[in-house]
Amino acid sequence: MAPSQVQDISNTQLEAPEPEHCPGPESESAGKEDACQGCPNQNICASQLPQGPDPDMSLIHQRLSVIDHKILVLSGKGGVGKSTFTSMLAWAIAADEDIEVGAMDLDICGPSLPLMLGANGETVHQSNSGWSPVYVADNLGVISISFMLPDPDSAVIWRGAKKNGLIKQFLKDVTWGEHLDYLLVDTPPGTSDEHLSVTNYMKEAGIDGALIVTTPQEVSLLDVRKEIDFCRKANIRILGLVENMSGFVCPNCKGESFIFKPTTGGGRKLCEELGIPFLGSVPLDPRIAKACDSGECFFNDYADSPAATAILDVVDALRDNIEVNMKKLSI
Ligand code: SF4
Repeated sequence: MAPSQVQDISNTQLEAPEPEHCPGPESESAGKEDACQGCPNQNICASQLPQGPDPDMSLIHQRLSVIDHKILVLSGKGGVGKSTFTSMLAWAIAADEDIEVGAMDLDICGPSLPLMLGANGETVHQSNSGWSPVYVADNLGVISISFMLPDPDSAVIWRGAKKNGLIKQFLKDVTWGEHLDYLLVDTPPGTSDEHLSVTNYMKEAGIDGALIVTTPQEVSLLDVRKEIDFCRKANIRILGLVENMSGFVCPNCKGESFIFKPTTGGGRKLCEELGIPFLGSVPLDPRIAKACDSGECFFNDYADSPAATAILDVVDALRDNIEVNMKKLSI
């Protein structure tokens, strides 16, 4: 697939680029908002107002129906290790060869999962059945916009509508085979267009819930509160919160120190305060960064490290929560 095809997704019928506060030509309010007044596209957008349900929704539903569990990985702030944690989660779940795992990188402006999962520089293959993810293990596939960029250093400068178009296309056209046990969706930090799009498009297919990643210090927790509020407003179940970079265990002396101090009680206290599950704390380990940079599975070489043990405990807690929720839903 030529990269230019991807970049034309939702803009081909517009006369001019969307202005700064564009609600999105595919949104329900396209052509009607204040931002639309005087926009050269207003007639086009207004004439495209949906007359009924979006037909793509049923295609997305159909495509995602082979997936048992869909999990959004969120963080309030950038730099807390969300993508790193997503890659660890993917490796950890896929360690069981009987479990099929997919990782979808929706951090359109900063895609990093391919590098962390050892698929950097790969390209997506297109067939009659759709776009194939890149498989980094027999049971672990990854899809990311970085596979479609002509140059890995290219900045992706897209307005909301174009990002929404790509997200829709990822959900509609990526083929995950006959069955996938887990789809981990790595989202950008904060609450933005990407979050609204993915929750909207996946609504019918059903999302198991969100896993929230934070670091212990208040400056990170502050934004996590907003993320939690977003999940509640969007009716996304919160599967739990993980406190990443929680202490540093020296690989040599095994001594522990706190680089990011939990001055207000950290993630555990926040979970108690807001009534959400605390899934665990993962210490900083420079070997995780090294494994991610080289796209290797951290667990292969450091399975007994405190960080590996902590991540596997989080995976167990997460899977327990998903099971409990499934049981509640079936009652
Ligand atoms: S929705 Fe359409 S009319 Fe409104 S601002 Fe965006 S491009 Fe312009």
